[in-house]
Amino acid sequence: MTVNYTPMKPNLSEAQDLIALAYRLGAEKINLTEYVYTTRGGVELMPSPQELGTLLDTWIKAGQKWKGKIDVDWHDCRVGLLLPGAEADPYKGCGAGYTHCRITVDRDVTPCVVLPVPVGNLKQQSFAEIWRSAAELHKIRSRDNINSGNCSVCEHKAKCGGCRAASYAWYGDAYAGDPTCWIKPDLPEFGSGTTRKEEAQG
Ligand code: SF4
Ligand code: SF4
Repeated sequence: MTVNYTPMKPNLSEAQDLIALAYRLGAEKINLTEYVYTTRGGVELMPSPQELGTLLDTWIKAGQKWKGKIDVDWHDCRVGLLLPGAEADPYKGCGAGYTHCRITVDRDVTPCVVLPVPVGNLKQQSFAEIWRSAAELHKIRSRDNINSGNCSVCEHKAKCGGCRAASYAWYGDAYAGDPTCWIKPDLPEFGSGTTRKEEAQG
């Protein structure tokens, strides 16, 4: 059994208690996932980049503390930048349209569970056809297509690439910067409560 923990503003302080709870429940793993407000929650639930950085730091330390009892794992495009030496090798950053995708109840295929951009539909094409030939999937697999913001000029682009869904949520553009990044912050105005996507929409 794996317990998933999605860090949001109201539950940031509960991270360590949730590991203990998952262990008491008999889980083999607790997985920290990214909160991206393309789903039901709003931007007000989104942790700041600094809060996320602090949380990931304590999460990594907790992984050492709980070793042998419960696997403390996480999903973040920056994982490969945070782990030491060879431990980082398996991580290639954002896997949207590359390691996984999402199939909705309407049979739309999207590059990630939190990136609501349909690239094809299973009523018209087979999954294999979409996976191999959808132009949008080819585009998102190449990080050369990230064309603005922190990720576009980041030395870690190849290893991380930034969360394409967070970019879409904030800018309305899956090929811009990652507003959640604390390594190369992109958001001097973070916390204003209005995303640049909303500003653009007036
Ligand atoms: S700026 Fe983008 S590519 Fe660089 S570390 Fe941050 S999220 Fe990753
Ligand atoms: S867009 Fe990439 S980094 Fe963001 S949740 Fe999806 S796979 Fe993870």
